[in-house]
Amino acid sequence: MSKLANVDHYQVTEDDVKRTVNTEVLVVGAGNAGMMAAAAAAEKHADVMVIEKEASINLMRVGLGGVGTNAQKRAGLTINKYDLVEYLAAFAQHNVDEGLIYHWANHSAEAVNWVEDNILKPNGAHLRSEPDAMVTSSAYQGFPTENDPTIDDKTFTSYGKWFQEKVDSMGVNLQFNTALVKLLTSNNQVTGAIVKDLAKDEYVQVNATKGVILCTGGYSANKDLLKQWNPLALKKNVFNDSPRNNGAGITSALNVGALKDEEPAECIFDRGLVPIGTKTDDMYVQTATYQDWLWLGSHPLLKLNMRGERFANESVPYQFIVNAASKQPGYLYSMIWDDNFDEYAKQFHMLGCARVGFPGYMASAQKLREDTEQYVKKGLVVKADTIEELAEKLHLPVENVKQSVAHNNQQVVNNFDKDFGKEPFRLTPIDKKPYYGCILGGRILCTFDGLRVNKQMEVLNDQYDPIGHLYAAGNDSGGFFFGSYPDRVPGLAASHAQTFGRLAGQQAAAN
Ligand SMILES: Cc1cc2nc3c(=O)[nH]c(=O)nc-3n(C[C@H](O)[C@H](O)[C@H](O)COP(=O)(O)OP(=O)(O)OC[C@H]3O[C@@H](n4cnc5c(N)ncnc54)[C@H](O)[C@@H]3O)c2cc1C
Repeated sequence: MSKLANVDHYQVTEDDVKRTVNTEVLVVGAGNAGMMAAAAAAEKHADVMVIEKEASINLMRVGLGGVGTNAQKRAGLTINKYDLVEYLAAFAQHNVDEGLIYHWANHSAEAVNWVEDNILKPNGAHLRSEPDAMVTSSAYQGFPTENDPTIDDKTFTSYGKWFQEKVDSMGVNLQFNTALVKLLTSNNQVTGAIVKDLAKDEYVQVNATKGVILCTGGYSANKDLLKQWNPLALKKNVFNDSPRNNGAGITSALNVGALKDEEPAECIFDRGLVPIGTKTDDMYVQTATYQDWLWLGSHPLLKLNMRGERFANESVPYQFIVNAASKQPGYLYSMIWDDNFDEYAKQFHMLGCARVGFPGYMASAQKLREDTEQYVKKGLVVKADTIEELAEKLHLPVENVKQSVAHNNQQVVNNFDKDFGKEPFRLTPIDKKPYYGCILGGRILCTFDGLRVNKQMEVLNDQYDPIGHLYAAGNDSGGFFFGSYPDRVPGLAASHAQTFGRLAGQQAAAN
């Protein structure tokens, strides 16, 4: 992983520049927003250059959200846009620009269909909609927004390689190992950027006559920015799963007068396995490889705080249990379950990537068991034949854990969770040996608080006027999320990035 904290490089000036290149549209970051922006601008016949600081494009996400996509039409599925947008705005307590959410809902199908028609179909793949997202409780209200790339309707297919071939064929100039350093302006308009060729260790000036589109994916890998903008995220999370995203796009725009969201927003998964005895302050592991990622962690099994007491309904969106644990001592929590877990996992009817079976990643309950057992070998999941022994292995107060488990089992007999109201079909006993347990913490997938943009994806200044020729999309752009990620709208993050990337590319090309 190359290191470039662009915030340290503002002192670089035109005098340090070794060479100059010219383009019309400069896209910064070859991820979900950037690749879409590049393709859209090239489609409109602009000269496009993409710079990417790593040696490859980022993972193009499977599971694309959308409203009224062709895949949904084929499945006979309709989503009420007004219900969906109101749900999203309410989820954010309206700390969002609601017009932007409508803009996404109005344009998401166009972006998803473009991917299907131009990237998937020419390579023998298509999208399959995930139809059964409406489930169970008010906290668990889901929308069937997800469209999954597949060839055989049984597994996901990745499509990044095809996407790269497509933009190559469109004449896009894709430069790897090249990082944004700072934006250049003249008369209140962005004219290009100084970038660093990391292979040659030299600065290059890129003149971009139609505009610069920032798509560097937020700042979850930058501990200093997290400390400044979202300090609680450092306490809630023990892993960061997007190590490429160091905040360069956002900081470079702030440096030319851009406005940023004032409150944090982030996406957290509840699957981070913590070595027993570790304190959350001691752990912030950067990984792109699902290291120590327990798929079972998202299932609504019994979760206890570090005092061995149950503290929340476990049947909630992924991030909520991590949020709830941040109000408990130590910010971490434990999960305790029994040997019937693969059967329970099937009955839980989870959504998205927590689901057992396609379109989840755990193709079968057996896979979920294998995933779990590998962490027993690593010592991150412990097993015992008694609850006492399990609690001791987890360094939890034995009596409290015994009481919590006994109480859980009684609630199963009563078929009623009188403490937190978990749905009866997600209330499961802990009575078949061996018993299992682990300590869990959050994994931040990305940050969402970003640069304020209008519907043209133009970055705004502190007067809420556009900064000329500067655009942002994906997690560099804000106004769309607040607080936690609404994961009951599956594929929203990827679709927000791809849809707004496409709009930004079209807009910049039209200058
Ligand atoms: C493990 C994981 C699982 C996820 N699952 C889902 C899911 O199921 N559904 C969903 O909707 N979303 C999911 N997301 C979130 C989704 O992937 C992101 O919201 C989306 O990728 C954001 O797109 P982006 O273009 O803003 O950023 P990215 O796709 O992260 O792209 C940013 C690119 O910019 C590059 N870059 C950074 N700094 C510079 C610089 N200075 N110069 C040049 N290039 C730079 C980076 O290297 C990177 O390639 C997941 C994320 C993770 C990490």
